[in-house]
This record gives sequence, C-alpha cells and structure tokens, in this order.
Amino acid sequence: MKVASFVSIVIGSCMALPASAQERKPNAAFIQKKLDAEADSLLALYKQIHAFPELAFQEEQTSARLAKELRKVGFTVTEKVGVTGVVGVLKNGVGPTVLVRADMDALPIIEDTKLAYASKVRTRDKDGLDVGVMHACGHDMNAACLVGTARVMAQMKDRWQGTLVFIGQPAEEIGAGARAMLEDGLLQKFPRPDFALALHCDGRYPAGHVNYREGQMQANVDSVDIIVKGKGGHGAAPHATIDPIVLAARIILDLQTIVSRERNPLEPAVVTVGSIHGGTKHNIIPDEVKMQLTVRTMNDKSRAEVLESITRIATAAALGARAPEPIVKTRGESFTPALYNESELTKKMVALFKDVVGTERVHERPMSMGGEDFSQFTRAGLRTFYWHLGTADPGAFAESKKGGKALENTHSPYYAPVPEPTLRTGVLTMSMAILELMNEKKTR
Ligand SMILES: [Zn+2]
Ligand SMILES: [Zn+2]
Repeated sequence: MKVASFVSIVIGSCMALPASAQERKPNAAFIQKKLDAEADSLLALYKQIHAFPELAFQEEQTSARLAKELRKVGFTVTEKVGVTGVVGVLKNGVGPTVLVRADMDALPIIEDTKLAYASKVRTRDKDGLDVGVMHACGHDMNAACLVGTARVMAQMKDRWQGTLVFIGQPAEEIGAGARAMLEDGLLQKFPRPDFALALHCDGRYPAGHVNYREGQMQANVDSVDIIVKGKGGHGAAPHATIDPIVLAARIILDLQTIVSRERNPLEPAVVTVGSIHGGTKHNIIPDEVKMQLTVRTMNDKSRAEVLESITRIATAAALGARAPEPIVKTRGESFTPALYNESELTKKMVALFKDVVGTERVHERPMSMGGEDFSQFTRAGLRTFYWHLGTADPGAFAESKKGGKALENTHSPYYAPVPEPTLRTGVLTMSMAILELMNEKKTR
C-alpha cells in the first residue's frame, strides 16, 4: 500500500478537524506532493547506501554522501565531527533549534536477502577479522529519511522559522557514536538544540505504521569482559592444574542466579554471556578463558548492583576453585544509557502522528531491553523524542499474525524493509514533527 493514498484518505475524511489538525492538513499535503517528486531519487539513494554498508567509525562513503546531499539543499555542513559524523545546519530566521539524528553504521553480518541491491561488501573489523557487512538495522533507511526530510524542509522555508541541525551519527551499534559527537563539541560548536528527534526501523510492524513509548523505552546497556584465570597443563593430569574451563562453566551458571535470585522480579534485568573462548586442543588445559557479557538494566541503581554481582560471583567462584582472581572489566566507553521519551513531548508528537498517518497506524509499544545511544542526547539535557517506523510488508505481517511465517526483524541476515512506504512515512512524520516544534515554541 502506498502511504500517500491512505494519508489523503485519513486527512480528506475528517470533516470536523480540531484547529491544529486543520492547520496541519496543508503542510501534510505539501509534503506528500514533494515526496511524489522526490521518491525515485530517495529510493535510489537508500538502495545505494544499502548496497555499500560500512561498520562503526568506518562510515567514510556514507557520511560523505550525506554531507553532499545536505549541502545541495542549502545546509552548512561540517564533516568529521566525532570521527566520521556529519553536522548540517540550516538557519531560517528566529525560532527554535531542532536536531534530527540519523545513525549511519552497519553490522558485521553476511546479507542473505537476495535483494537486487543486497550488500556484497566484506571488510576487516577492528580486530582485523574478515567479515561481511550489512545494513541489518535499517540505518540506511534512517539516513535516507534524513536526506528526504532535509529536501522537504528546504522547500518549505516559508512555512517555518528557526534552525535545523541535521546529523549523520556514526557507530550506534557499538554505543559510541553519539558520545563521540557530543565529546567533539556537537552542543558547543553548533547551535544548541531545543529539541532532538530520531526515528528507527522496526521489522515487527507493517510499513506505514509507527510505534513509540512514553517514558522509558529501552534499557541501560553494558558490556563486561571477564578473564577467568587458571593454571594450564596436560589434559591427562587435571590434578596438576587449575582448570579455567570448568571454572568458567561454574561462573556462567552462577551468573544465572543474579536475575533469578538477587533481583526484584518486578524490575527486569538481563545478564547474557554472549562469547566464551578458551583453549586450543583436546588435551591441553589452558591458562585462561575469556568471556564477554551483555548486561541490561532499568536504571543507574540496578546497573551498579548487577555489575557488582557479576564481579562478586566471578571472584567467589575463583576463590572456591583456588584459582587466581579473575579480571572483570566493564567497558565504560561503550555504556549506553536507558532511552526515555519525555512525556509532554511524546503526547504532542503522538497526537500529531495520529492526525498525519491515522490513529490505527500509531501504536504504543512495550518497553524493550534493547539499547539505543540516542539516549546520550537526553542525558546531555535535550528534550528528546524517538519513534519506530514499521518496515514489514503488510501481507507478510497479516500472515505472521495468523500464525504463518514469522517476520524477520533487525539484526537478521534476512531483514528487508519495504522501502517506499517506510521512507514516505519516515519523511512525512519527521517533517511534520519539525514543523510542529517550530510552531509550538513560538506560541509559548
Ligand atoms: Zn542495531
Ligand atoms: Zn539500529
């Protein structure tokens, strides 16, 4: 289904619109018209970015393309903000400053979508390993929506006043890009935003739909490394060794008691051991085992408590095995704080979206233990709102609801958004959100 058709139905069928909705109608219609003209070129841009994905902090081509596109429509662009980040500023008289963020990085996944524009890219990751690269989180769509919105806003300068700060952010997938841009002076070197907006793809909802959550939407994310120490030796003489593999197995099982026994069941947390490496051969007991954990918590207090539990449990297990003390290290540089949507702003945006795409296409979604570093902009003091764009084929969505084939979501090698309605909904909702905020502050 083309979004253009249902939007005109929704807008056209409301006879007694409230004043604000009446005011929105010409803007929404104008944006739809611009989208009709820009759709082919924006889809080509999306497919180009999709076919040539780049990993975190390697987004050279993508950021150069975004810089070029923003310059073309009148933005003043600065590159290399936060390693590979891009900042475009468009001033248009006195008014609020609205930041719009699109993330740009892809994932180390070999794409298996069979799409004509599927990625065939391989690269070296930061550890030097040869990996496939795929836009499996839809950041290519987020970037294409940023460009589409920039084009639309540049053609509507007579309908808004204020300053736009559009950013292409690197390295969301490793939780480092937003921090890198903030540390590089994003809020000092450029106009300070009154509001910050971001959208993101979601494969569990149909294209043309959006979803959001008021208040807390996602969790704190920490990465923890554990090096379990032992004393290596011959596999046939375990009594002469301290076996770190058996000790690591014990630690992994003991860690399961953090969530099941130590935490309040009404406050969720996750402790997942996602990687374990030790040993080289059947008959050698190694000196050490390395483990990598992801830890999800709801707030700062429970974060501190769970991280303390991990260290305590690993240390106690080592003591029990007369092993050297393990090294337990939380990677502070990749901490992603919990994502919150400010209530007042969320209510405003949700009312707007219901007007623009139809109430039945706007969904409040449950809290997720996923992470999103857009939260860094909230922590930096900005008023923020973040929403999801449905990307699923409506037919496939209906079939999955009836118990048919499950939908592929982000981070899967089969993840494939339906491009046109997703892109149109992204540009429409983002452009309307900006116009709403530009007008809102003036009337305060
Ligand atoms: Zn992702
Ligand atoms: Zn993502």
